[in-house]
Amino acid sequence: MPVQRAFVKGGESELARIQRTKLNVVLTRKPSGAKLPPNAGTRIVEVLSAGRRIGRVIAFVPLDRHLAARLTGTTTGQQVALKNGGVLIEQNGPVRLQSRLPLANARDLLVGGTSYRVVATRLGEGHAVELVALKRSSAIAGDANAARWRVIGAGFGLIAALLTIAYAVAPAIAKNRLTRQERDQAERVLAHVGDGIFLVDLDGVIRLWNPAAEAITGLRADSIRGRPAQETIPGWNAITAIVPVAAKPGGMHDASSSAETVPLDIAGREIWLSIVGVALADGTVYAFRDVTRERRLEDQRSEFVATISHELRTPLASLHGAALTLREHGQQLSPQTQHDLLDMIAGQSRRLADLIEEILVAGQLDSGSLHVVSEPFDPEELVWATAAAARVRVDESMQIDVSMSTVLPMVRGDARRTRQVLSNLVDNAIKYSPDGGRIELIVDADEDYVRFSIRDEGIGIPLGEQKRIFDKFYRLDPDQRRGIGGSGLGLYICQALVRSMNGRIHVESDPGEGAVFTFELPVAERITATSAA
Ligand code: ADP
Repeated sequence: MPVQRAFVKGGESELARIQRTKLNVVLTRKPSGAKLPPNAGTRIVEVLSAGRRIGRVIAFVPLDRHLAARLTGTTTGQQVALKNGGVLIEQNGPVRLQSRLPLANARDLLVGGTSYRVVATRLGEGHAVELVALKRSSAIAGDANAARWRVIGAGFGLIAALLTIAYAVAPAIAKNRLTRQERDQAERVLAHVGDGIFLVDLDGVIRLWNPAAEAITGLRADSIRGRPAQETIPGWNAITAIVPVAAKPGGMHDASSSAETVPLDIAGREIWLSIVGVALADGTVYAFRDVTRERRLEDQRSEFVATISHELRTPLASLHGAALTLREHGQQLSPQTQHDLLDMIAGQSRRLADLIEEILVAGQLDSGSLHVVSEPFDPEELVWATAAAARVRVDESMQIDVSMSTVLPMVRGDARRTRQVLSNLVDNAIKYSPDGGRIELIVDADEDYVRFSIRDEGIGIPLGEQKRIFDKFYRLDPDQRRGIGGSGLGLYICQALVRSMNGRIHVESDPGEGAVFTFELPVAERITATSAA
């Protein structure tokens, strides 16, 4: 191997010649004292001959403002910098920070008097330098950006991992170049990184598959190593078509090389990976991270925006139309039409208020700030009141009945929240019974729980969907082909409220025959012989 031969036989000029052909590499016979830029990420490989150390190859990446500028060029909309101790190296040069603490999670940071949102990741285990992505806080809209920042963070983490790992494993493909010790070292690095790392050689065969790759994908190294990637990784061809591969480990400034998010279908389970590659002389090393959760959040966010805009637009259009008609032609309209229009305004504004309440409650549930009291209350009163309020809103095609055991114990929970759950379930029963029918509110109790059931004769819910309807934003008919609107938040909120009162909720349904939603709340005190007397 030429480097080893140069160390054994060649003079200094031969070493200098090889060094000139490689960017950011130093070949030296001295154990120390190589001239490197201050602030450089380094990887040292010892060159051995007959068990004796005859020199070292030092690969380095200068962590300077040029690197910060090149990395910034690879991203859209955010700035990239390097943090070393209390100094942030930006594309315009170093800036002193007020704190030397590591930037563990996405947060706000004051740089030169301006507030930035930052995510950072260390350039490898045990490395003090951090790769930092910054965006002016003022430029960030308040929505679900957290998820997007986590994905950006994952992308940066991968690039950082690659910067270090590519040096660690670069010689690993040509095994004859490595001593046993170096190979062990590379393997130890790979066993301990949290990112999935794998190597695909020039024939497309997987040569290395680290423990994190096993953990993330569930694909075992034994069943993968030594086999073509195309046969073992589902959708490999599609993945290679979009995953960026940098020309060299330091080549992250290549515009195409920021990590790409791709789906992987493993035994019916879909996982999303943020993945990036680096081409080596003998193959390609890929690093990936599991971003399934972030992806789901992002999907939910888009779904939320789409549903809510639709849900807001419909009542707003009716309100606007009714108000305009009353203003322009109020005098000419019959008292009945005027009354109908005002009725519609009242109904639609109630729908808007309910929607806004749902969004607020869902937000409070997510942040854990929703206040739910726990005190004894009378379930009977609540059920009669809910049924009476619902009867006002339905026409004669619908009948709302109540059936209750004669003696019901007090319930422990929050009466207002329980009423909210009941009304929501009754509203759904009405909404999803477009042809009318009977709705029944049934309440009974055993020793420990009071059970509230809402039975309807509406469209019902297919068996496979009965669990998912409790998911946030989940709607069976998102395109509203049946013309029934909704935010997909109602059942999510019901379930969360019932659980917060130590209860449980479930549904039973035969599609086409209707549905029965049942929730149970704990009894406040048992009816004993004395207290019942
Ligand atoms: P939405 O605002 O869409 O009504 P929910 O969370 O209350 O949201 O309900 C989620 C989905 O569950 C609905 O889109 C609907 O498809 C289904 N669903 C809820 N209640 C009923 C019911 N009583 N009968 C049939 N389907 C229902």
